Amino acid sequence: MKTGKDCPKCGGGRIFHSPTITDRDDGWDKNLALQVKGLIFKRGVGELEAFVCAGCGYTELYVSDIEALRREVES
Ligand SMILES: [Zn+2]
Repeated sequence: MKTGKDCPKCGGGRIFHSPTITDRDDGWDKNLALQVKGLIFKRGVGELEAFVCAGCGYTELYVSDIEALRREVES
């Protein structure tokens, strides 16, 4: 789906893209991301984006900047 191909679940060809996913926990809106340990607190890296099939709702999540996540993990 990410590359514009049809949905792998229902074969639908209409795909919605959301460049960010909002996490509303703790009363604060922030973009959903993976977490890594920082010096004191966990911190978010690798914000997620979503591709959603308009036919069945099947959703794929991807890290929007995979190179930044690789740099973070490998440093
Ligand atoms: Zn589908």
